[in-house]
Amino acid sequence: MAQLVYSNKINKIRTFALSLIFVGIGVMYIGLLAKKIPWLMFTLFILGVIFVLLSTVVYFWIGLLSTRAVPIVCPNCEKPTKMLGRVDACMHCDQPLTMDKDLEGKPFDEKYNTKKYKKEEQTQK
Ligand SMILES: [Zn+2]
Repeated sequence: MAQLVYSNKINKIRTFALSLIFVGIGVMYIGLLAKKIPWLMFTLFILGVIFVLLSTVVYFWIGLLSTRAVPIVCPNCEKPTKMLGRVDACMHCDQPLTMDKDLEGKPFDEKYNTKKYKKEEQTQK
């Protein structure tokens, strides 16, 4: 079975925000090419602006998340990193990390962050 590679959540969201900016610029560029059709150019420009605005919102959201993230030093590469939730991966080496002693040594799984899993765990106790 292929091992899934997990990456840091903050990094993931940041990549998403960056790609939104590129999509926005791309859409506006297509709009520029379509300048012979004014309504199309106008629509594409508005769409592009919406994408760029969305990415600003996502960047703002990262800022909020970062304040809630726990700064730690990665035991694998010894660089400072931030983690979100009960399990996350190192920003630099993708080493799976956990804040929860109960989960130490268990195979890394993103399900540990879901509400459903927490509920299941509580009913087992
Ligand atoms: Zn690391």
